[in-house]
Amino acid sequence: MQGLKGKNALITGGSSGIGQAIAIRLAQEGVNVAINYRSSPEGAEKTEEQAMQKACGDVESCGVKSLLVQGDVSKEEDIIQMVNTVVEQFGSLDVLINNAGIQTECPSHEVATDDFDQVISVNLRGAYLCARETLKHLLSQNRQGVIINISSVHEIIPRPMYVSYSISKGGMENLTKTLALEYADRGIRVNAIAPGATITPINEAWTEDPQKKAEVESHIPMGRAGTSEEMAAAVAFLASDEAAYITGQTLFIDGGLTLYADFREAWS
Ligand code: NAD
Repeated sequence: MQGLKGKNALITGGSSGIGQAIAIRLAQEGVNVAINYRSSPEGAEKTEEQAMQKACGDVESCGVKSLLVQGDVSKEEDIIQMVNTVVEQFGSLDVLINNAGIQTECPSHEVATDDFDQVISVNLRGAYLCARETLKHLLSQNRQGVIINISSVHEIIPRPMYVSYSISKGGMENLTKTLALEYADRGIRVNAIAPGATITPINEAWTEDPQKKAEVESHIPMGRAGTSEEMAAAVAFLASDEAAYITGQTLFIDGGLTLYADFREAWS
């Protein structure tokens, strides 16, 4: 895709699922990828291996660079350190992918305050702080850049039993729009993708059980869950110059989940 080759990207939560697929896809497009992981590097190492394989094939070095960066996005000091490391190693940071996310299931009237805070700290506060540090860097170098937030269909669909997750993704919509408006005249674009049900480790509770999977998929107009690669393709597009006039938008990638599936049969 146009304008991606040679750019430098940081992907938070790059050890698995959608973040892993994004790192691999961006590397395939010639982007240098900094792959963030929270604690153990094994998943991120797998991401790096596959990313470099896609970027370079069997050639040992093809100019595309990769980097593993440890950091917990719920910790401000880790985020500052992480962005500094990427800038030191790559020379600049052009594309931030706010992908790290967690969820906890609990009736809303019983949620422990610490559990609530943890989800918001990772999904929303972490995304904002990563954006803030990236924006400081871009503005200091007078550079154009792109921020892409990995939101969810629960940005707009309420999700009982997951109140902190729903709030975090609802907040992400406004984070996307506010930053997009504030920095549009500096050439910095901010967008989000909102995946529907996607086959990744976060959804093991139903992806590993054929009956539960069929039940989930019965609510999706296209009749199947999405893949991480389908999410990554949209991220690559939004990061590229082919999306040069798009900012402040959330692109729903959900097989029609947000189309009110119950209206498939006409109501009389
Ligand atoms: P996943 O569990 O595979 O990925 C989440 C990643 O975030 C993991 O690599 C995890 O290590 C990382 N992470 C968690 N806490 C972190 C922290 N404090 N610091 C740094 N990294 C941390 O699941 P996924 O489905 O790939 O989720 C990726 C994003 O996509 C999330 O933001 C999620 O909310 C969103 N999403 C997923 C789906 C889906 O159906 N899978 C749907 C909508 C949105």
